[in-house]
Amino acid sequence: MSGRGRPPAISRLLEGEEGRALVTRFGHKPTVDALRVAVAQARDCGNVAAELIIAAARVAMSRKRPARLRPVWNLTGTVLHTNLGRAVLSSRAIEAATAAMARPVALEYDLASGKRGSRDDALKDALRALTGAEDAILVNNNAAAVLLVLDTFGKGGEVIVSRGELIEIGGAFRMPEIMQATGAALREVGTTNRTHLADYERAIGENTRLILKVHPSNFRIEGFTGEVSASQLAPLAQKHGIPLVNDLGSGTLADITRFGLAREPTVAEAVAEGADIVTFSGDKLLGGPQAGLAVGRTHLIESLARNPLKRALRLDKIRLAALEAVLEDYLGAPNPQEMAPTLALLARPTEEIAGRAAKLRQFVAEALGENFAVDSVECESQVGSGASPTATLPSAGLAIRATGSSELAEFAAALRALPEPVIGRMLDDALLLDLRCLLREHEQAFLANLRRLQ
Ligand SMILES: *Cc1c(COP(=O)(O)O)cnc(C)c1O
Repeated sequence: MSGRGRPPAISRLLEGEEGRALVTRFGHKPTVDALRVAVAQARDCGNVAAELIIAAARVAMSRKRPARLRPVWNLTGTVLHTNLGRAVLSSRAIEAATAAMARPVALEYDLASGKRGSRDDALKDALRALTGAEDAILVNNNAAAVLLVLDTFGKGGEVIVSRGELIEIGGAFRMPEIMQATGAALREVGTTNRTHLADYERAIGENTRLILKVHPSNFRIEGFTGEVSASQLAPLAQKHGIPLVNDLGSGTLADITRFGLAREPTVAEAVAEGADIVTFSGDKLLGGPQAGLAVGRTHLIESLARNPLKRALRLDKIRLAALEAVLEDYLGAPNPQEMAPTLALLARPTEEIAGRAAKLRQFVAEALGENFAVDSVECESQVGSGASPTATLPSAGLAIRATGSSELAEFAAALRALPEPVIGRMLDDALLLDLRCLLREHEQAFLANLRRLQ
């Protein structure tokens, strides 16, 4: 088709197959409007080919649709919300990721020798320093790290796990099923509430390949209970020459009790207790991008690296660059709380949040109009992502109640339909907006977004 001469009529463009597809996707009026603009632009630049006009209109309309993955306001009170993408990253990590997206990086290239390198090398020194482990390997997420460990060492043999630790993390990640998928036979020991060292000892045999300890991330067994600690298991594993693997789940690099949070084992502690491999997530309490980290003895980490599955589970340059920056923050900061935004949110003092709730109450009430009553209230946040499942953090927020005939569920849906969706938590007769994750410097943007409620 010629690009010169008179542009095609809008009506003709609408009749064509592609024009009809645009109408189906974006509606008649928006399509006509976009085609008019595109025709005018085509005339200006001297190429009025129909396919160019259609393409320009499509691009213009696609841009206007809000992205499915646009940012939301997480006011659920769950700081590390898996469904909302877990940790938010520090500006340094974001800069590193952005640079890695825009420019080539020495991902598998050793700058010193000018030869091929390994993509995990950049982070190994930092991980050694932060965890005390000899070596480290990085994969897509912690589920992948556990999968890689079981596939590498457990295949065709037995893996001993306590019955109290046969967990389901959520979704389809269940320890027994992962094990089955890798061809490792599960050797359950002990009972749901109590497992003893002798139970492990009796289960060790010729086919034993691993002893696996799993952090019971998302539940607690209380009452008459007993588990065997990793430090008790380490000598047993060593005596029989069987690797001891500790799947920590959240795995924090900092002692979080000083933020008033319940104790979670640090990775360095787990390494010091004698585990041969420790696995943990990048985007839980570590506060980085989605990633799975395995640290431990060099010869075992090397075996993991040689498994062909590693290629399928490896991390991309964007996340590696972000994670490198996060680890640098831990190494450099006197106080990681200032560096990892997620830790800062968890550490936020209750009084400060309550003060902000009292200040914001009136502005939110004005934005919502007279059909809703807004009260500042005390509430409880939680860490999320299976870290400290039973511990809550005293917090504060705004409870919104319908005063007239308005339906609260409809209101919650309207909040979710905003340009920047606002996600709260339903209580019995109120929608609660927990303000722990609304930072003071973002309050004006939050209110501006709220005022767009129709
Ligand atoms: C969260 C968790 C996993 C899975 O980690 P992802 O990073 O979500 O894949 C595995 N094991 C334990 C103990 C966990 O808590």
